[in-house]
Amino acid sequence: MKILVSGGAGYIGSHTCAELLLSGHEIVVVDNLSNSNESSLERVKEITGKDLIFIKEDITDEMKMEKIFLEHHFDAVIHFAGHKAVGESVSVPLNYYHNNISGSLTLFKLMKKYEIKKLVFSSSATVYGSHNKVPLKEDMPLSASNPYGRTKLFIEEMLRDIYSADPEWSIAILRYFNPVGAHPSGLLGENPKGIPNNLFPYVTQVAAGKRTCLSIFGSDYDTKDGTGIRDYIHVADLAGGHLKALEAVACSNGIEAFNLGTGQGYSVLEIVRMFEKVSGKKIPFQLSERRKGDAAVSYADCSKARILLQWNAEKSLEDMCRDSWNWQMNQTETYLDKELQII
Ligand code: NAD
Ligand code: UDP
Repeated sequence: MKILVSGGAGYIGSHTCAELLLSGHEIVVVDNLSNSNESSLERVKEITGKDLIFIKEDITDEMKMEKIFLEHHFDAVIHFAGHKAVGESVSVPLNYYHNNISGSLTLFKLMKKYEIKKLVFSSSATVYGSHNKVPLKEDMPLSASNPYGRTKLFIEEMLRDIYSADPEWSIAILRYFNPVGAHPSGLLGENPKGIPNNLFPYVTQVAAGKRTCLSIFGSDYDTKDGTGIRDYIHVADLAGGHLKALEAVACSNGIEAFNLGTGQGYSVLEIVRMFEKVSGKKIPFQLSERRKGDAAVSYADCSKARILLQWNAEKSLEDMCRDSWNWQMNQTETYLDKELQII
């Protein structure tokens, strides 16, 4: 199939692009590089030995996007493009509503106009809000407590309305739990700008000596060791989930949401210990206040994806930590190489 991948230069998008190329798909990546670098796509080509088309464009620009739709005849769209930082979304909500919602609207309008009715959309476990019981299931009530979450919720609603109006659409809404890890080659991974908000990049940077100490947000939760529990999923497993979702939308009509997680929760302290094991480094930490808005426990019921998509996460927590560490080490080496060249 010929697939438009919006946001394909980003963390999850680049891993998915590699899987798509290895499965024989033709891909056109549209990304404005607001949170990524074209080098990730060079690495995708290096890993796969295959080519792709990259167009640096903003999905909110309807005229430019229409030119792309006219030039290429897509069979399906995988829509990753969007801003994703919860804290930032609270500070600049209009940027989030504009980028995520207007961007999606532009894309969906053009899909309708050019009769491309197969879509895989990146949603998030954040749409379950904080009042549901774990494990979280796709048919539970949805809510959001910040502008980022609301953009995902609104886009999901928009998609349900699009499908109601035209049941020829085929839409998979993928609700990711906590994507972590990196490509086993060490060539692709997450590269957050500034101080990382998420646990994995923060721990990795502490292990690498780039930051001195991890603050553990909350040690008095009603959990096995008092720290927060999340369902971490290896980004390579997540990429595989997109392939399965694409196969499903290719051969049926409908709209379905799927949880993509492992179904298993790990505490912050368990992550710290596993990182210490794979890196051989001590990870200094301090116990701090709970972070506002954090749930104590979040993990998925993944049975729907297992049954309907025949998809299962296969990588272990050790794989996730080892590949994150490997990626971090690779970054450091590249950085040191550059420093040496400058000297
Ligand atoms: P990312 O920031 O690495 O990738 C998103 C990509 O979209 C970036 O390359 C960015 O440059 C691009 N982009 C943003 N706005 C754009 C626009 N207007 N036009 C063109 N390109 C644009 O993020 P990611 O972690 O790969 O996440 C991908 C998707 O998955 C996002 O929609 C995100 O909300 C969702 N998601 C991510 C997580 C996570 O923890 N990483 C969890 C749940 C859901
Ligand atoms: N966390 C932490 N210190 C950090 C970052 C995160 O203790 O510097 C905790 C956080 O409170 C949560 C878990 O690690 O219990 C995962 O947080 P992350 O931000 O990665 O994911 P999210 O909370 O969005 O699911």
